[in-house]
Amino acid sequence: MVATPIGNARDITLRALDVLAGVDLIAAEDTRNTAHLLRLHGLSAKPGALVALHEHNERQGAERIIDALAAGTSVALVSDAGTPTISDPGGLLVRSVREAGYRVIPVPGANAMLAALSAAGLPAQQFLFYGFLPAKETARRRELEALQSLPYTLVFYEAPHRVLECVADLFGTLGEREITIARELTKLFETIHTGRLSEAVAWLNGDANRQRGEFVLLVAGAAMVAESGEGERVLRALLAELPLKQAVALTARITGEKRNAIYQLALTIKNGA
Ligand code: SAM
Repeated sequence: MVATPIGNARDITLRALDVLAGVDLIAAEDTRNTAHLLRLHGLSAKPGALVALHEHNERQGAERIIDALAAGTSVALVSDAGTPTISDPGGLLVRSVREAGYRVIPVPGANAMLAALSAAGLPAQQFLFYGFLPAKETARRRELEALQSLPYTLVFYEAPHRVLECVADLFGTLGEREITIARELTKLFETIHTGRLSEAVAWLNGDANRQRGEFVLLVAGAAMVAESGEGERVLRALLAELPLKQAVALTARITGEKRNAIYQLALTIKNGA
């Protein structure tokens, strides 16, 4: 399972290049994309060594790959971008190959969710990766309502033509929270914008370019410290006197509340929400 770049072609590991250069067969979501990536790195697949494996042929593809493994062939799987199986094909293949008794070896690398989380500044000790929300509004809102009370940073993938309606539903269901919109990561027009959910639609509408490209949306988890309660009173008092980290640590010690939740509330207070 070989991770490939999510934009910047140089975000590929030396081990991934070694594996792609050395295997007998490369199963790729889109063979043209992968051929292009190989060329960029001075590699080329042997004739017939690049085969398509995508969501529409994964079951039959898995059977063919198991036959190839049985014949002693080594196989690498790559998706179009990032880590295979993460909102991408490959899961069924991995399961079938493991059930057939073969080893599946991860060759880790780029992943849009982790890249976004690493730069967003939202709590990342615990987070929930949701991937793509349903395309239809009713189903999307139902899913979001189920996530409403989770005290973890929520991470979504979204397509450019749905980003506006998705952000509007995030605000409609989750209420005021901090959001980071991470767009075109590792590419020329990379943008990482943090603001309030109530203002996110206006921000996206502020410039047509802000709605273009690929998106990861990260939303702060539900604050566990009851707003207007004792925890918030203590936190506000300490924030007025101390740096954020110390105020959060002390509030956690005094109230016994989770540090993660207090941290989120502290961010909201600091941002003036
Ligand atoms: N397997 C990939 C990974 O490891 O991140 C994800 C594949 S999924 C089909 C594609 C979605 O990932 C896009 O619609 C977008 O939400 C997100 N994505 C991929 N590349 C991105 C990038 N460069 N910047 C922001 N989001 C990206």
